[in-house]
Formats: sequence, C-alpha cells, structure tokens
Amino acid sequence: MPFDLAAVLAQKKADGLYRRRRTLSSAQGARVVVDGRELLNFCSNDYLGLANHPEVVAAFQQAAARYGVGSGASHLVCGHSAEHEALEADLAAFTGRERALLFSTGYMANTGIVQALVGRGDAVFEDRLNHASLIDGGLASGAQFQRYRHNDVAHLAELLAKSSADKKLIVTDGVFSMDGDLAPLVELAALARAHDAWLMVDDAHGLGVLGGQGGGAAEHFGLSARDLPVLMGTLGKGAGAFGAFVAGDDVLVDYLINTARPYIYTTALPPAVAAASRASLVLLRDGQALRDRLRELILLFRDGARSLGLDLMPSTTPIQPLLLGGNERALAWSAALEQKGCLVGAIRPPTVPAGQARLRITFTAAHQRADVDHLLQALADCRGMTA
Ligand SMILES: *Cc1c(COP(=O)(O)O)cnc(C)c1O
Repeated sequence: MPFDLAAVLAQKKADGLYRRRRTLSSAQGARVVVDGRELLNFCSNDYLGLANHPEVVAAFQQAAARYGVGSGASHLVCGHSAEHEALEADLAAFTGRERALLFSTGYMANTGIVQALVGRGDAVFEDRLNHASLIDGGLASGAQFQRYRHNDVAHLAELLAKSSADKKLIVTDGVFSMDGDLAPLVELAALARAHDAWLMVDDAHGLGVLGGQGGGAAEHFGLSARDLPVLMGTLGKGAGAFGAFVAGDDVLVDYLINTARPYIYTTALPPAVAAASRASLVLLRDGQALRDRLRELILLFRDGARSLGLDLMPSTTPIQPLLLGGNERALAWSAALEQKGCLVGAIRPPTVPAGQARLRITFTAAHQRADVDHLLQALADCRGMTA
C-alpha cells in the first residue's frame, strides 16, 4: 500500500526508534518543568545558562519594543535591520574575522554554505560523525561526497591525495555533537593547506565553551582565517539565543549573500533575537567564570562516573555521553533516570551509528554540584537494571 505511514511508525516503535516530544512549561535552566513535573535538566545545549539570563531577556524585550516581532521579509528584500547588522559586526569581532553573515538556523547555514561552495566537478570530504545538516548539504551539493573515518587524518589524507577534483572542501564539526570530542583542527588545517583545499568548521558546540574568550574551537586551537577560512557557529546553544552565522573574509560573505539559497529565500530572524544574541556575546566573551564552573562540574561528573565503572567516552566538553549500545537499553536508562528526577535524552540511530545508542548527558554552568551528585546517584541505581 503506498503511503503506509502508520506501518513505518509501527516498525520504528518495534525497533526502539520511535521519537516523541515532551512539553516544557518553564524556561530553560538546570531545572525544567516537563509534562507538569520538575526535573533536573541534563540534556540542553544551553551550556552557559544564558537562555534565560536577565540581561539577554532584557535585550530581547527592549528590541521587541522598538522593532516589534517579525522581521517582515528576507535580508535581501527589507528584513535586514540595524540589529542584524550590529550582530554581524559583533560576530566578526568576536571571531576575529573580517565579516560575519547571519543565517536563520544552523541547519540552513550548513546546507547553504556547503551547497554554495561546491558542486559538480568538486569534492567534499566530511567526517563520518558530522552533524546531519553538514551531511545533507554535502549530499545535495552535487559534489563528489566522501566521508572519512572519525577524526582520522591519515584516512582523509589518502582520500585527498586520490582526488582530482577542481575544488576540495573539508568539513568537520569542531566539537562532535553526540560524542563531545574535538576535531584535530590543527592537523586538518595543515592538510587542507597541503592539498589546496578549504576547511570549514561547524562550531555549534564549541562557541562560548572553548577558548579563553569563548571563541570556540578556532580560539582554542589558535586558527586564523587563513587556516580556517569558513567558520560556522550557532547562536541557539552556548549563546542561549537562536540563529547561526558564518565568519570569514569579505569576499566569502559577499559571495554567500549572493548565492546561498537558504540565506536568500527565507525570512530574516526577528531583530529582537539578534539583539538578545548581542547581549549573549558580551556574556560569553567575559564568561570565564562560567566556563571555569562548567569545567569543575564536568570533572566532578567524570570522577564520579569513573568510580561507578560507567563507560564514559573521551570527552572534555559539557557533552558527556554514556554509551549503552542497544536502543531499548538506552530508553530504559533514560526512563529510569526520569523517574529519579533527571531528564537525559536517549540518543539512537540514525543520530548515532547502529548499536551505539547512548545517553547524551550535558552540563551547564547553571548546574550546582549537588545536581551532579543527584545524577550520579541515579546512574548508580541504573547499573543493576537488566535492560
Ligand atoms: C544543533 C546543530 C546544528 C544546527 O543548528 P540549529 O541552529 O539548531 O539549526 C548544526 N550543527 C551542529 C553540530 C549542531 O549541533
């Protein structure tokens, strides 16, 4: 039967792959009210606790009072406001690049950038564990699409050496979203230079978290615009707001304004959202105390989890996945943790490879040490479960 959508859903349920949403009735924070119940939140990407920060909220409200809500049009028609312009200037300064360009979401930025930079006759090289938006952009670009083994610089070197493509684009997450580890960006930048390729980094999870000024993976590794010509970041995670950007030289930005379809053919994000991001950037830049606090919580968790004999992955970032293997097992642990008052998402294929279902535990600077202790106790209780 064509369009037997119900059968597809039934199969997903049978395979432990069915997904459903929960409804929050509170702001983001260390505690959230989910389906009417308060839970400790260990699955948000609001790493510095800025999504509900009073200064960010105030900036949003003030801009809404002046500009209203909707931007009314795409950037190229009449939706580009002074708040967008100012945020782009702030992002350029924040990243140490000539210019920055706002996109409405990270998903659109990634598909738009990759498709604008490469096409037929070109080649795009992507880490196996790249975010879905990078993969989708690469596949849709029409360029020869090559995936290299996760963080395997030697494998990538082999693929590059064999390629006779006109333009070669290497694309990687800076911090891998489901694993929490960092890409070897210094080595990747050197490889790009040696093969006359361009490097693009998606730093959705590094921005605000890594680097002395929160500049992310590029700051952490000290990569200039020459080493890393295409730096993409999002504003909905560490910055606690919404939207995304690419930072690079003037020509790159001008080119994308004129060619990136998800930039051209969409409504600009609300000016008040841009104003909120500007307030966040200041807090990120001056947020070393928040980053220190986050680091302390991460170490506390890793120490505790290690003494419980839990299978942690080698991550130093706020993303601390606990590998469980089967889908049902991940679901059972997630459900048991929820009963004990902790909200932790079960991440399953296709978001992660088959057989590598996991709990994706995340920490934010809004957590207390006691919250981490609570989670560790709940995890200790889960260990005895048969599932
Ligand atoms: C979340 C995420 C995106 C998408 O960003 P949105 O602004 O949420 O659309 C892109 N890349 C990575 C690595 C992400 O984790």
